[in-house]
Amino acid sequence: MNFYDDLVMQTQMNYSRHYPIYASGSTPYQLTDKKPLPYGEQIDRLVQEVKKADCVVVGGASGLSAAGGGDFYYEDNDSYRKYFRPFAEKYHFKGAFAGMMHPWKTREEYWGYLATFLHTTQTAPVRHSYLDLDALLKGKDFFVLTTNQDTQFVKLYQEEKVAEIQGEHRFFQCAACCTDDTWDAVKPVADMVDVMGDGTKIPTDLIPRCPHCGGEAFPWVRGYGNFLQGKKYEEQYEKISRYVLEHKDSKILFLELGVGRMTPMFIQEPFWNLTLSFPHARYIAVNNKYDFLPKQLEDKGMTIVADIAQVLKDARDTMGSGDNDQ
Ligand SMILES: [Zn+2]
Repeated sequence: MNFYDDLVMQTQMNYSRHYPIYASGSTPYQLTDKKPLPYGEQIDRLVQEVKKADCVVVGGASGLSAAGGGDFYYEDNDSYRKYFRPFAEKYHFKGAFAGMMHPWKTREEYWGYLATFLHTTQTAPVRHSYLDLDALLKGKDFFVLTTNQDTQFVKLYQEEKVAEIQGEHRFFQCAACCTDDTWDAVKPVADMVDVMGDGTKIPTDLIPRCPHCGGEAFPWVRGYGNFLQGKKYEEQYEKISRYVLEHKDSKILFLELGVGRMTPMFIQEPFWNLTLSFPHARYIAVNNKYDFLPKQLEDKGMTIVADIAQVLKDARDTMGSGDNDQ
């Protein structure tokens, strides 16, 4: 068990213990009653904190991808229709995840849907929010921890700088976890989508299979009960643990982006814990809904409650127009 994994375990226990509070969308932590700064001052402060920091640990969660245009997961909207039209017209799913839960009648159609889903994220360009964040971090020593599976961060950065602790869409694993291997999903997915055209199913012989047991493959992602937590998974935790421990005595800024109420244990609460225990750590969260700053952190951090895409754009503009007083 490594350092960050251990932190997640602790917060998971906390989550179970106080489950009704979390389930109601709240938190068992005592929150600050300080009034937030006006929005413009919050942006200035965000930029200053980034400038002053020796290093930044970014925690990128679902709200970041949603803000950047990846809004097809939970609704039947234009972007969902753009990628999933044949399925949307036939089944009227409320977004990409709803289709994943559908009791598909054939494996060929199930894989048609799954391939469409994976292809959509694999081939999506890097979205504006990510580019704005990238500009904000320019010249900084930083590391990214993410629960997003949509490959946005690895399109921008080398894998050594990114820990994807919930898996991601470029890899397959054995659906039955018979082996610790993961393998490329990009090529097989492109082939499936190619052959499918405007239909909703793929040919039987394109169903991806485990090279060891011959059973079906599955994307290497958490959320469906068979997430392979082997070597590759351990490596993700080792990367974030190493980075955090190496920088614990420096001016480290924990920048949390878009953590929802379902999973505070992977980014949010470990960041709170680390900010509290490291002497020079600072914490900033950006969230479009939840104003959660623990009272214990009120002098070390800030929460900006606003649209994440807007915040990152405004911060980038402010950084660019500043007097660069470094
Ligand atoms: Zn297998």
